[in-house]
Amino acid sequence: MWNSEGIGLAAPQIGLPISLVVIDLDPLAEDYPEYKDFRRVYINAHIIETSEDTVSMEEGCLSVPGIHEKVSRPTRIRVQYLDENMQEHDEWVEGFLARAMQHEFDHLEGKVFVDRLSPLRRQMNKNRLMNLLRGKAHCTYKTKRILK
Ligand SMILES: [Zn+2]
Repeated sequence: MWNSEGIGLAAPQIGLPISLVVIDLDPLAEDYPEYKDFRRVYINAHIIETSEDTVSMEEGCLSVPGIHEKVSRPTRIRVQYLDENMQEHDEWVEGFLARAMQHEFDHLEGKVFVDRLSPLRRQMNKNRLMNLLRGKAHCTYKTKRILK
């Protein structure tokens, strides 16, 4: 994740069938000082409430190399999770962290951000998506095609 400038990774992305997500927002600290040294582990995380207002932001994903698209998601979310010390948390989150959490927690359900694109945007990325499905990904890290 660090080598590829990712800021989050979910266990299923590396083939682990567990509900674990890591998020490291420290690379954003230059623009968002509040994320300095922000490195967290989220175990068995669930979004239990979301704000009605949404915000559109560009996303990319280590599991979908080469595609960056704007995705609309709730601005604020209420999450429950365990941290690395198995301490329970129940909190409202907003901003970039809410975005990263929603993206990563989708992975726990087998979803990637392109599943949330409009049919038009998906159509416009069709060739790139088809190449990924065929195992033709161009990226700097080792990948494994898991879709048959
Ligand atoms: Zn991702």
